[in-house]
Amino acid sequence: MFKIADLKMKSALVGVLCVLSGPTLAQQFEQAALPYDSDALAPLIDQETMEIHYGRHHASYVSNLNSAVADNSELQGMSLKDMMKNISSYSTTVRNNGGGHYNHQLFWQVMAPVNEGGAPSPELAAAIEEDFGSLREMQSEFNSAAASQFGSGWAWVIVDGDGNLKVTSTANQDNPLMDVVDDNGKPILALDVWEHAYYLNYQNRRGDYVEAWWDLVNWHKVNELYEEAMNN
Ligand code: MN
Repeated sequence: MFKIADLKMKSALVGVLCVLSGPTLAQQFEQAALPYDSDALAPLIDQETMEIHYGRHHASYVSNLNSAVADNSELQGMSLKDMMKNISSYSTTVRNNGGGHYNHQLFWQVMAPVNEGGAPSPELAAAIEEDFGSLREMQSEFNSAAASQFGSGWAWVIVDGDGNLKVTSTANQDNPLMDVVDDNGKPILALDVWEHAYYLNYQNRRGDYVEAWWDLVNWHKVNELYEEAMNN
């Protein structure tokens, strides 16, 4: 039998359930679409590698990060960059998957199809010359950092706290924004040297992958990141 009190109770209950399930309905972090087709970087990075890397590896970092955030109210609504700055305060799951999400988002953006990436801006070119001597010398230092990063990790060009460019590398999914790494700074260039990034095409030849990868650098984006890093 219909009773008005039941109806009120039901709608109150529905309201409570909506509030409780609210944060899990919309995911806090989303994987942006790739800025090019998955075959656009081939043959230097083949389509299958891109599809597995973006569609499975990166996607699982995002999904694991969302699950971790759903279980920790302190992280809800926090930006990825703020999370990185205080990463030592959070769990290894947040460190690995938050870093994994940040690093891959940046990685896709700093690449472009061959011949579409432009060149360093006059400002960036001048800074490279001042801090490394030449672009070739920066590349050579970067290639060494990428090659000597033992196991899985990333190579970076960052703007450090003094506004200087610096080459560095990090293990696993750590990055230079994190308060747990030696070389802190704002990343303007990132290279994934996990085997999943190159093994199908290059097998164990990480050096060949790193060398080839320079033809994919999206200097338009790197210039923008450099300008942002210098102005903030
Ligand atoms: Mn990766």
